[in-house]
Amino acid sequence: VAKDLGRNRYQFYSPDMNARTLERLTLEGDLRRAIDGNQLFLAYQPQIDLTHRRLTGLEALARWQHPTLGLIPPDQFIPMAENSGLIEPIGAWVLETACRQQAAWIAEGLIEGTVSVNVSLHQFRQPNFIEVVAKALSKSGLAACHLELEVTESVVMHDLDRVMETLDTLRSLGIKLSIDDFGTGYSSLSHLKQFPIYRLKIDKSFTQGLPHDRESAAIASAIISLGKNLGLEVLAEGIETTEQEQYLHSLACDAGQGYLFARPMPAPACVDFLRSFSTANHPPS
Ligand code: C2E
Ligand code: MG
Ligand code: MG
Ligand code: MG
Repeated sequence: VAKDLGRNRYQFYSPDMNARTLERLTLEGDLRRAIDGNQLFLAYQPQIDLTHRRLTGLEALARWQHPTLGLIPPDQFIPMAENSGLIEPIGAWVLETACRQQAAWIAEGLIEGTVSVNVSLHQFRQPNFIEVVAKALSKSGLAACHLELEVTESVVMHDLDRVMETLDTLRSLGIKLSIDDFGTGYSSLSHLKQFPIYRLKIDKSFTQGLPHDRESAAIASAIISLGKNLGLEVLAEGIETTEQEQYLHSLACDAGQGYLFARPMPAPACVDFLRSFSTANHPPS
């Protein structure tokens, strides 16, 4: 019988299982080296105000350029980082890099808004998480009002008293807090009201069904009214078509993000985007 003794697991031997374990351990070792080996980088995706079509911020998304396997998406290496304790150094690196980049782009006049950083459960629950965030801000010189932290429902609905304290502290520093993938997890609406949340991000699985899928439309419109009634901003993820954008705008959704506007881009491509976007929207007179 496979006995679960915390992190030490006894399992029946099977060649297949062993191969996969070996693969996982190798990849974990690779990830450990990726941090110092400059194999991690951030891609930035624009967030657009749907009313004025203005750029309000960028979401920083982690990427791993593996030396032999190529580009590994975060859905694959972030869970691995969570399970191996590597999420702490990786999370700190993401925060520092995103804050430093945003501070530089603000100084160059390329952007005025926020940079959004995703925070996972283990990272958020680290006892020194607030210090890690404060350090990223002070090292980069980024003002706290330019930083947004994205957490999922599972993060905020876990260990409520402690979470509330952490959220309150972050908020009192001036940091914006949002709930990512909203609608896919379990939220207690009464807690949602008490938390110092700045915005809800509608999960892209709902956006994708718009405007024709009735269930997606019902959920998206319910999230938007909930957000509005609680005084929160609402952003829809994964907008790929003009139809989706118009539909969301007609529901009074504040902002959007998605391939329709731009894909996540490494820093140099993002600079090009920021330059052309500001020219297109504020043509020189
Ligand atoms: P997320 O935070 O919900 O990010 C949105 C994901 O949707 C991103 O995938 C983005 O590339 C993708 N996306 C954006 N626009 C569209 C669109 O129009 N259509 C479609 N189909 N997809 C779109 P990505 O970059 O692969 O990231 C996946 C997830 O990995 C993120 O979901 C986030 O949960 C996690 N992640 C990424 N970077 C970090 C990080 O630095 N730290 C942590 N803890 N998690 C991260
Ligand atoms: Mg996110
Ligand atoms: Mg999301
Ligand atoms: Mg997601």
